[in-house]
Amino acid sequence: MIFSIMQVPFLDFHYSPKEEEDIMAAINRVIKSRWFILGREVEQLEALYAQFNAVKYCVGVSNGLDALHLALRALEVGAGDEVIVPSNTYIASVLAITHVGAMPVFVEPRMGTYNINPDLIEEKISNKTKVIIPVHLYGHACEMDSIMHIAEKNNLHLVEDNAQAHGAMFNGKLTGSFGDINATSFYPTKNLGALGDAGALTTDSENLFLKVRQYRNYGSNRKYFNEVIGYNARLDELQAAILNVKLIHLNAANEERKIIASLYREGLKNIGEVQLPQIAEKATSVYHQFVIRTKRRDELLAFLHAKGIQTMIHYPVPPHLQRAYAYLGYRKGDLPIAEEIADTVLSLPIYPGLKQAQVEYVCEMIQCYFRN
Ligand SMILES: *Cc1c(COP(=O)(O)O)cnc(C)c1O
Repeated sequence: MIFSIMQVPFLDFHYSPKEEEDIMAAINRVIKSRWFILGREVEQLEALYAQFNAVKYCVGVSNGLDALHLALRALEVGAGDEVIVPSNTYIASVLAITHVGAMPVFVEPRMGTYNINPDLIEEKISNKTKVIIPVHLYGHACEMDSIMHIAEKNNLHLVEDNAQAHGAMFNGKLTGSFGDINATSFYPTKNLGALGDAGALTTDSENLFLKVRQYRNYGSNRKYFNEVIGYNARLDELQAAILNVKLIHLNAANEERKIIASLYREGLKNIGEVQLPQIAEKATSVYHQFVIRTKRRDELLAFLHAKGIQTMIHYPVPPHLQRAYAYLGYRKGDLPIAEEIADTVLSLPIYPGLKQAQVEYVCEMIQCYFRN
């Protein structure tokens, strides 16, 4: 088959005419209300997202990093404490730990699922360990039964980083509903994305709910009375109003991502030099990313680029090798699985509105590259 060049952007924000109209109406509603911070839109989003995520409480905040940070604050994690975090994650999971003055302790992922390997957690637990942060990377739920078991057995808190996995499940239970308190992001490119920065915490604990609500608003429940040294980590009404519309479309958007993922799986099977993402037993994925691995990643990326296909690398440098964390003293080779992942992963375009013909073109071009 001969293909002419087709443009496949890595990302393309796609709204149905109805969705776009509803978003405009929501924005207008906020403008007309003359109320911009902590009002009815934020309250509605908190109620709807708690319901979506099957938890008692949700607190809207400014972004995903602040959500993680406030979760650790609420659990009173600080100097002298250790927090277990996967070595293969976005930097924000680690930044939250060092922001509260605690020490990140990295646990390697499984190569197949890219997620934290529960078999390697216990050897990293010390008498300083306070929290485990599983990250449901690329939309794939972590192996939550083993992780929960380890947390309970060792009396550790659990904080899920659910920024990439709104709607994913383990054993029929939603990610973001396992931990003591969990963080998520509504950054525009996430499965549920605002039109700016936004995030949230989810919990079943009334105590933690009240604490993070206080922390997000200067440590205050009553205006000008401050109980704790808080932050400004509020979600604004405009983003909440937009999210209230977009949340209605989340399940359909996730289904579209799953269909695209199965098209990739079909189109890329049997290429010996390409490893496809694996989903753990009892886990589902909402495919925030579709991440393949190949030793010839950089050449493949350049080849696809020349064919009009944009790809990305999530992520090129693991947190322990970032210059920001040089003081932790890690060297190349210390966390070899995360490092190999960083050297070999390639994220293919996946988003609602991506056409089947585009996915097939991407697959054909990858096949073509490995044939030659
Ligand atoms: C996006 C993301 C965050 C941070 O979210 P922001 O809203 O950008 O602060 C945290 N963890 C993971 C895994 C993410 O993908």
